[in-house]
Amino acid sequence: VTTFKDKPVALFGLGGSGLATARALVAGGAKVIAWDDNPDSVAKATAEGIATADLRGIDWSVQAAFVLSPGVPLTHPKPHWSVDLARAAGVEIIGDVELFVRERRALAPDCPFIAITGTNGKSTTTALIAHILRSSGRDTQLGGNIGTAILTLDPPKSERYFVVECSSYQIDLAPTLNPTAGILLNLTPDHLDRHGTMQHYADIKERLVAGSRTAVIGVDDSFCALIADRVERAGVKVRRISKRVVVADGLYAEGSRIIEAHGGATSLLVDLDGIQTLKGSHNAQNAAAAIAACLAVGVSKDEIRAGLRSFPGLKHRMQPVGRRTQVVFVNDSKATNADAAAPALSSYDRIYWIAGGLPKEGGIVSLAPLFPRIVKAYLIGEAAPAFAATLGEAVPYEISGTLEKAVAHAAADAGADTTPSAVMLSPACASFDQFKNFEVRGDAFVGHVASLDGVTMLVD
Ligand code: ADP
Repeated sequence: VTTFKDKPVALFGLGGSGLATARALVAGGAKVIAWDDNPDSVAKATAEGIATADLRGIDWSVQAAFVLSPGVPLTHPKPHWSVDLARAAGVEIIGDVELFVRERRALAPDCPFIAITGTNGKSTTTALIAHILRSSGRDTQLGGNIGTAILTLDPPKSERYFVVECSSYQIDLAPTLNPTAGILLNLTPDHLDRHGTMQHYADIKERLVAGSRTAVIGVDDSFCALIADRVERAGVKVRRISKRVVVADGLYAEGSRIIEAHGGATSLLVDLDGIQTLKGSHNAQNAAAAIAACLAVGVSKDEIRAGLRSFPGLKHRMQPVGRRTQVVFVNDSKATNADAAAPALSSYDRIYWIAGGLPKEGGIVSLAPLFPRIVKAYLIGEAAPAFAATLGEAVPYEISGTLEKAVAHAAADAGADTTPSAVMLSPACASFDQFKNFEVRGDAFVGHVASLDGVTMLVD
């Protein structure tokens, strides 16, 4: 990034995206001085030729900017002194997303840029938008909080689409974010440990849509509904999204049908029924938001429909991985607590449910309203006895112990079922008692499914 060419810039945080940011600044000619509390990260940067120094000792009065890594929010105690020093010297404090948007303004201000935030569904919506754009033949870059650091993407240019998931921390450090289309999916209490209050958390998220050319806002929670009204009054074009109620200008779901409302008229845009990777009302919200953003950057309805139909889904999130006659095998390993397992359990009617692992507080008590959908439960890991106690008389279960046994037994039982059903890993538990992480657990599930007789795999 060339915005700080020949200028001194201080940088704190040399983890993955912090290091990528330092590299991008250096490549663009900035005079970077970087630091991190972790000596290994400092050594790695130094070995690459990036100048490092404890930021306490530098001359803050000459710094053009203080760049904080997204992993290091402003409220984080560690760089607090450096934030104080920067503030005292009147140095602006920004992050990698801000560096990107300045580069975009300098190189290609018309380059379509979609930014996504919210409490839940960010990664799904981000991946879905990128998939629709790519499958319509557009040059598309996908990154940000979802994985690839934004400054390692190809540079902005006209006709190149950027789809960027933004965390609160990244928005906080991007004062001129101003995307072409900004999505705020939903706001529920989360991450409050770092942001203090819900209101503060909501205020940060509001900034993303307030600066958008088109603001796409899910209005099913009260915080977002108020934000939509406020942003609209300020003159921003707002498209509302709802999975529950009819909206006047935007997109809403009636079951699996996504309806577009515009200028007093409504029309059916797409029916998600039959799209395995977009099952459930939460995905109706994600899909409607993705559609609104794609429309805002000029994608045609036919291109959008084709992209929705071919969306492969995200790994480990309600992902259909295999099929055998009437049985679909679903990997929802990402569901590491009961709340996260609820959408998957709500999305299928007859479930052979594999659950358990390292238990979380509260267990699966909150899932009781969904128990009628469970034909039988196959319990694994340390949580098995506690889950068995909660299921009690309400749901038949076995203590399978291992994931391998659970898959074998669930597949056999589902195979004898005359009605379509799902064998689903949605563990409502952390994985660490039996697996390194939820990804390894999900991959193990896929492996066990693949080794069953007669299964057609839907993933590699
Ligand atoms: P994020 O990136 O915000 O963590 P993901 O797209 O990775 O979200 O989805 C993670 C989990 O959150 C999903 O498996 C699902 O259980 C739940 N989820 C997804 N979309 C929504 C939504 N729109 N509202 C509520 N929960 C959702």
